[in-house]
Amino acid sequence: MPPPRPLLGTGNKGLRIHDLVKAPANTPWAKAKQQSWDASEPATVYTTPEVLADGTPCEAVTVILRTKGCHWWWSSGCTFCGYFNDTRDDVTSEDLHAQWEAAKAAHDHFAKQAMVKVYTSGSLLEDREIPVDFQETVLKDCHQLGKELIVESRCEQLTEAKLAWATGINPSFTVAIGLEAYDDEVLRFHVNKGFSTAAWDRAVTNLKRFNLRIKTYLMFKPPFMSEADALDHCVAWVQSVAERSDEISVNPMNIQRGTVIDRLHRHDEYRPPWLWSLVEMIRRSHAIIHPQGGVNGDDDQVCRLIVHPTAGGKIRGSHNCGVCDAEVVAAVERYAVSGDLMEFEGLTCSCLAVWENEVFLERHLPLPLGISKPRRGRVVDRLRSP
Ligand code: SF4
Ligand SMILES: [Zn+2]
Repeated sequence: MPPPRPLLGTGNKGLRIHDLVKAPANTPWAKAKQQSWDASEPATVYTTPEVLADGTPCEAVTVILRTKGCHWWWSSGCTFCGYFNDTRDDVTSEDLHAQWEAAKAAHDHFAKQAMVKVYTSGSLLEDREIPVDFQETVLKDCHQLGKELIVESRCEQLTEAKLAWATGINPSFTVAIGLEAYDDEVLRFHVNKGFSTAAWDRAVTNLKRFNLRIKTYLMFKPPFMSEADALDHCVAWVQSVAERSDEISVNPMNIQRGTVIDRLHRHDEYRPPWLWSLVEMIRRSHAIIHPQGGVNGDDDQVCRLIVHPTAGGKIRGSHNCGVCDAEVVAAVERYAVSGDLMEFEGLTCSCLAVWENEVFLERHLPLPLGISKPRRGRVVDRLRSP
């Protein structure tokens, strides 16, 4: 490894964000972890309740494969992405085929699941990450088994040529894109995403041309953003992408080990979003998703809005005061299924006023990074602590 670059002041070239992003992936604990797993076993396989494109409830199986990871991570990487923890440089096509067979064997060839989600800590349709013969296996198997397939991808892989090839094997699947923010400034300076909103626009045009379904991930509260800004921006992003998405999944930030956001969090400079902010974001976005005030399945539905607070209620995930968290997380998850604002009726806690005050102050004071603190406990104890 080259010696670390100085921050400033020596007249030499300064430290780049790239070095900060990459550093954790090269630490001894990360390297040891990457070498510790068996390349013929998938990272995780689990089932969850889901709904099909036509609204029918079903069971879905999620297969998370161990891969070489994301090509954007190799050259730079998003500020919150901890997927490097599940990757290894030497994964072969044989390994991936073995992982896929193991996943199918564990679930009787997906006999009970109508939906299959295949996640690769990157893009399934990216040839540098995933051997083409394995891409073909996944597309073909799911088509032959008659399963609704969901894969993840960045934007640059979704060219006309690639989609023509993929739909030749499987004519109908869903592509989930981690757009994170429909805002070029946020994509560049907060997320370090490596593509622009124009790239997403192009990808969506291509996907529509091939009649493929589009799932859009948005990030709630990227780094270097206040709670109030996160709330306002997220509603605006939902507005920008709703008409062109079949499904929007808002992911509240959760802190993954060894990332830039992990550093900020440990330095007490970032608080994962309040669950109350998610409730407020859903209330405001509901009018965009259901312009006539309907619920999921009604004629006025523009697309489906899903919010799943990963690590909800924990300090490293979206959280409130610790007392009301489980109840609020459950209501948010119920909304993802029902699309009914009644899920939040009667929900309250003494911490609601604290959240309201924080958001109020952030709107009225010149504090671009916000004032939220991640710690729980008595306010007096917090003020006394260094
Ligand atoms: S594009 Fe996705 S997988 Fe790649 S670094 Fe960003 S979040 Fe991680
Ligand atoms: Zn509370």
